[in-house]
Amino acid sequence: MFNKVHHIGIAVKDMGAAIALYEKMGAKLLARETSRDGSADLAMLDLGGDLIEPISPLRDDTNLARFIRERGEGLHHVAYDVKNIEGVIAEMKARGFEMIDEKSRPGFGGHLVAFIQPKSTMGTLWELVEDV
Ligand code: ZN
Repeated sequence: MFNKVHHIGIAVKDMGAAIALYEKMGAKLLARETSRDGSADLAMLDLGGDLIEPISPLRDDTNLARFIRERGEGLHHVAYDVKNIEGVIAEMKARGFEMIDEKSRPGFGGHLVAFIQPKSTMGTLWELVEDV
């Protein structure tokens, strides 16, 4: 059902410092954008074909800001590449997974995304991504 890991999401306080850190390690910045709701600064870096996505809150009243306050910076989510995301969401629900997003929505780069409740996945926030 999942084709491969699409990217790893890392919660950071300082986006500039995060991009500089990963670039120093050999990653290449592909894109940087603000989330559609204006709540987060997002970047996508390529490291040998694998993707790393630093995410940084732009407001204090968001889940991401609360995540960093309570748990600190670090691994935030693992995203999986899927095809037919609506079908995968339906299958996940049929298998008993609790969805945060019952329908896909536009995410980074306009790709379709949906998040799954970490209670359903042994504690890791999962993101489904369909490249469009
Ligand atoms: Zn992501």
